[in-house]
Amino acid sequence: MLAMHSDPKFVADAVILGLFAVKRTKSKRIFWAVFGDIVLQNLKSNLDRQLAHLVLCHHCYTRFKPSDAAATCVQCGTRNRGVKMFECVDCGQQVIADVRANRKIRCDDCYKAYRLKYKCQKNRTYLSDK
Ligand SMILES: [Zn+2]
Ligand SMILES: [Zn+2]
Repeated sequence: MLAMHSDPKFVADAVILGLFAVKRTKSKRIFWAVFGDIVLQNLKSNLDRQLAHLVLCHHCYTRFKPSDAAATCVQCGTRNRGVKMFECVDCGQQVIADVRANRKIRCDDCYKAYRLKYKCQKNRTYLSDK
């Protein structure tokens, strides 16, 4: 299976799509034995990305997406002090983020575009190295 594609992450994604459609316990077990680490890694980075848009209530520890800098917790109504406003470095739009998200300097759209560009550049370097 790995011989088809040298990038194991690509294989994992393809296999997830294939395997979770087919519900066979045996192949799932093999799948987790072979790709478990990569899947966990993928899930974790997805989760990190999602959590970057959320703030944590310091009172009840609920995570929620703030609608503005003065957003209150959706659970207990506590005014959240963990939110900051900043200007996206690319488009200048006002963005709300968790104060601890120090590395967040772009709005969601610009970040997506930035990541895509970064990925392409990385792939190009990777290919030219070969
Ligand atoms: Zn709360
Ligand atoms: Zn932007």
